[in-house]
Formats: sequence, structure tokens, C-alpha cells
Amino acid sequence: MNDGFFTKKEVESKSRPSGKINSCASCGLYKHVKFPKMAPYGEFRKEIMIVGEAPGEYEDLNGKPWQGKAGKLLQLTLESLGIDLFKDCLSINACRCRPIDTKGGNRIPTNFEIECCRPTTLQIVEQYNPKVILLLGNAAIYSFLGHRWRKNLEGVYKWRGFTIPDQDFTAWLCPTFHPSFINRLEKNVEIIWKQDLMNAISLTSEPLPKNKPPIIKIITDLKELYDIKSDLISFDYETTGLKPQAKGHRIICTSVSPDENSAYVFLMPKSQHERKPFIELLSNNLVGKMAHNCKFEDTWSRVRLQQTVRNWQWDSMLAAHLLDNRKGITGLKFQTYVNFGIVDYDSEISPYLQADDKNGNSFNKINKLISNPEGVHKLLYYCALDSIYEYRLAMKQIKIIDYNFLPF
Ligand code: URA
Repeated sequence: MNDGFFTKKEVESKSRPSGKINSCASCGLYKHVKFPKMAPYGEFRKEIMIVGEAPGEYEDLNGKPWQGKAGKLLQLTLESLGIDLFKDCLSINACRCRPIDTKGGNRIPTNFEIECCRPTTLQIVEQYNPKVILLLGNAAIYSFLGHRWRKNLEGVYKWRGFTIPDQDFTAWLCPTFHPSFINRLEKNVEIIWKQDLMNAISLTSEPLPKNKPPIIKIITDLKELYDIKSDLISFDYETTGLKPQAKGHRIICTSVSPDENSAYVFLMPKSQHERKPFIELLSNNLVGKMAHNCKFEDTWSRVRLQQTVRNWQWDSMLAAHLLDNRKGITGLKFQTYVNFGIVDYDSEISPYLQADDKNGNSFNKINKLISNPEGVHKLLYYCALDSIYEYRLAMKQIKIIDYNFLPF
């Protein structure tokens, strides 16, 4: 396991804001069920882990998962795809004990109950080291992402269908619908669900892509940009706000990536003379430009640097929308996670990049961040990662779009 999995993150997943440790004792569900703390079940021959919601009445009666109607649907659907649920997979649930409502029926586990189970869930993943982890429904998604995704997690509609090469779990993380949801819906959702399952299963023979460590060069003399030989760059600004036209706003720093693995990053010099190598790069028609939401970099270049960006080639945000038009998924952080499995690289910095109000002319808190050298270093590093991930994303999108959409 790479570091970060069972270190800080695991600890975070266990403790509440009060400092109390979430555990079976604080949850208490185990006291009221026939089969408490249900063990993982299945022979795991194809190294697929299936994560459900929680045991229901039939599971608690039999002491094993997927014994009711939803289980039958899952079993039959997997069978039609050449997978034996109990022989090829290992099944666990986000909550290991059956949650019971006041009338004695099944109920959805609460986030707190899932959090109490999470340390054990993570231990099981580490113990078995699955190749593919299928997350069925919201509870499973919360179990595996709730402690690592600091923005609004939202639900299965946002996450389903992605096959995420998760670098923390070193496994393909594949969220999709829960079978009980499919049981309640029309046929066309079942077709999508089956497609998701098929895509996930196909990954058992696909090695997990490893991300190359980024090479970040912090420069103070922009003449180093003359070393760039690439005819395609991505670039990214960190600024004091959203709109360059508003009084007092400025570009704090800039990163330029000449390839998928490296970036130059610098604080934007005050003098025209010192900026010249960068301005020349922007104006050079022989160098193609890429950005994530290039409208932003384009406007800031024109207004604050008095330079038009020549030869725009790719906008990875626009391309993300073209490839999948669901709401709330085109942001660079989301795209970096679902495409490269790198989670939460921005959470330390992003609070400083937001203003306290919704007025587009407002100032964010970037000046507070750069009021000490450590803050400056963190900002530059973060800015560099942005342009590297933009480049990687663009390369992946270009391959998909060339292959699927271009007529030649
Ligand atoms: N539903 C689940 O989520 N898990 C089971 O084990 C059975 C039904």
C-alpha cells in the first residue's frame, strides 16, 4: 500500500470533531442483530470486492450478504457477465450490522454508522488488496470517499460509471447503482447499470496506471522559460479574485507545463521587463496553449498582462463537459480524481482561493496565504500541479475524442 492510506487519513476517518473515536461501541447496532459485524463473504477468485449498503433481514437471518431480492438481481446480472458473485468476488457492506427501524424493518444506515464501520472496512481492503472495488449505491460511496472528498460528495448519479484508478487503495474504484435501486426502476437504468458492471469487471485484467511523480521547477528568472522546446503547453494562474477588471486585482503566480510530468512555476513579476519571456510565450503562435477553463486565463492575460493568448488548442474543462454532460463534474479536482485517482490535492489551498461572498469582484484570501514563505511555497506547488494535471487530462481527452468522434 502506498503511504497515506492507513496513516493520517485512516485516523481522520475514525475520529469525530469532539475527538471521540468512532467504533462499534459508539454505534451500538451490533447489540440488536442476529449476526453482528458480518464478516466478508466470498471466495474472491477474480479479486473483485463488492461493497453494498448493509445487511437486510434475510442477510441477518443467514449470516451472509445478498440473500434477498437485490442479491438475486446482482447475482444473475453478474452471472450474465461471466462472474460468479460468491466465488469470484468478496462481498462486504458499508455497515456490517443490520440497521433496524422502529417497526422492525430494514433501514438505510446513517453516515455515522458507516463512519463507525469505516476503520474495519479499510482494514479489510488492505488485507485483501482487491483489483476492482465495486461501490454499489450511496452508502458504499460514502464509506470509501466520505473521509477523503472534502467538497460536497453528492450521490451516486454524480459518481456512477467512472472507473477510478484510485492511488490510495491501489485498485480500480467503480461506483454504480445499488441493485435494490435497479429493482425499483425502469429497464433503461438497468441497461446503464449492467454496462457499468461490465466496464468494472473488464478492469480485473487491466494494470492500475501509476502516476509519475511531478517535476516542479520554481523559478525566479523567467528567462528559464526560453528552455521550453515543446510546441504545446498548458498554463494556469492563481489570482486575487475571479474578475481581472475589478480594481486592485492581480495575477499572483503562474505555472507552465511543457509536458505531462513537469511544470515551471513563478510569482508574477511586477515589471514588464521581467515578465517578457512569459509574454513572448503567450504571443508565440507556434506554441499551442491549453488551460482548464481557458476563458479565465484568456481574460486575465488580456486585462492584466495586456497580452492576447495566441493559438489556443484545448480547454480541458470544455472537453470534460463534451465527454460527459452531468452537472458538477467538470472541475479540475474532480477530473483529476476520476481520471488519475489522485484525491484532494487542493484542500489545503482552496479555502484561500475563495472569497467570503458571492460578489464576482471580491478579493479571495490568497494574500493571507502568501504572507509567509511556507504559504508561498504551498501555493506555487499547488499551481504547478494544476497545469500538470491539466496537461495529463488534455492528453487523455484528446485520445478519447480522436478515437470516438473524429471521422478519419
Ligand atoms: N443489500 C446490501 O446492500 N447488502 C447486502 O448484503 C444485501 C442487501
